[in-house]
Amino acid sequence: MSRPSYEETVGFHGHSCPGLAIGYRMTTVALDALGASRADDEELAAIVENDACGVDAVQFVAGCTFGKGNLVFLDYGKPVYTFFSRTTGRGVRVLGHRRGMPEGLRDDRARCTDWLLHAPKEDVVSWREVRIEPPPMARLHGSALCAACGERVMETRLREVGGRSLCTPCAEDTRDD
Ligand SMILES: [Zn+2]
Ligand SMILES: [Zn+2]
Repeated sequence: MSRPSYEETVGFHGHSCPGLAIGYRMTTVALDALGASRADDEELAAIVENDACGVDAVQFVAGCTFGKGNLVFLDYGKPVYTFFSRTTGRGVRVLGHRRGMPEGLRDDRARCTDWLLHAPKEDVVSWREVRIEPPPMARLHGSALCAACGERVMETRLREVGGRSLCTPCAEDTRDD
């Protein structure tokens, strides 16, 4: 699949917004820096330091998705993504900013979004190569049935409570029934 356009990314996200625009720029800068294209499998991994709108650009444009397991979320609240190519062993850290944004754009979401999309990349993204440990590959785990609700649970998520193996909601259930 060739690189999705911003408009196609809006189709995935649901709306156009400054957060998606900067996420799109950060993701495309990173892919260019790594010489990478959209990941069909786990050849590319992303570590994102926030869970805001822009992460949908990471998922849609870079193919680093929650479901495939090549998207790692760190709850740091920072506009930073780190991409790692398993093919080349190279990593790039991208930081979104608005350094060159003209006065007065900040309060106008549509114009702000447009500026973020079309500004020179140096005005909206800083990036540098980094050496990082490869993020762990997604793993498949066996599953078993919760002794209380009977629903299937990944084995690594079962908890032993009073000699019974329970899912998290059942283990944390404090009802007396
Ligand atoms: Zn949004
Ligand atoms: Zn249960």
